[in-house]
Amino acid sequence: MTNNKMYIIANWKMHDNSKSFKSLKRVAKLSNLKIFRKLKIIYCPTYTQITELINIFRKSKVEIGAQNCHHISEEGPYTGKVNARIIKKTGAKFVIIGHSETRSCGETLKNINHKIKSAIKENLKVILCIGETSSDKRKNKTKKVIERQIITALKNNNIKENLFIAYEPVWAIGSGIIPTNKELKFNLDLIKKILSKIGKKNIDILYGGSVNPKNINSLIKIKTLKGFLVGTASLNTKKFIDIIKKLIN
Ligand code: PEP
Repeated sequence: MTNNKMYIIANWKMHDNSKSFKSLKRVAKLSNLKIFRKLKIIYCPTYTQITELINIFRKSKVEIGAQNCHHISEEGPYTGKVNARIIKKTGAKFVIIGHSETRSCGETLKNINHKIKSAIKENLKVILCIGETSSDKRKNKTKKVIERQIITALKNNNIKENLFIAYEPVWAIGSGIIPTNKELKFNLDLIKKILSKIGKKNIDILYGGSVNPKNINSLIKIKTLKGFLVGTASLNTKKFIDIIKKLIN
């Protein structure tokens, strides 16, 4: 995918957040400004709010994504599930796959591989989340875990574009703690090496985990990063705009 664009993705998780709908007009306005042309803003609300957000952002450059999709592409008797094709029909352009919160609910490495294939088939852009837990980190297993997550997710998958890797150390998600820049650079290099080994070196890498308007100042110094996945702080439009503004300065 690599181009000179930066990406900022709001992951609203299972939050209603409809109280912020009015304030989203400010994000819509910002996205249309010329100085924001190199920044792509993406909102990933719950499935049920996708259409509403598409309407809110209709006259703007903001795009919408889903937070997951089912691993089976065909429609069928899968109660409570939503596949990539149905997501695509809403007008959403992106989908998050392999978030640690879906992995921890029984999503397997194989499921993730199938989800990516079905999303790509529908022309959705995939944000593949990877990252080690605090226990993996303590046991020096970060490299092994990340390598396995990337290789299994992309196995037999001819994707060269429409894919982003979001490095999200599980211990950083929602904890208020982020890796040091040294730690982060080390792991980003590792990810780049793994991608290059499997012939996918042009994939953009994002960071996610407790990004906020303060720590973004140091995170933006890492030039390998092509953007950020923001959970908690994205629920507050003012905080999200504060982060966005720092990305274009
Ligand atoms: C996330 O869940 O993708 C995330 C980055 O969450 P938070 O910003 O709340 O850590």
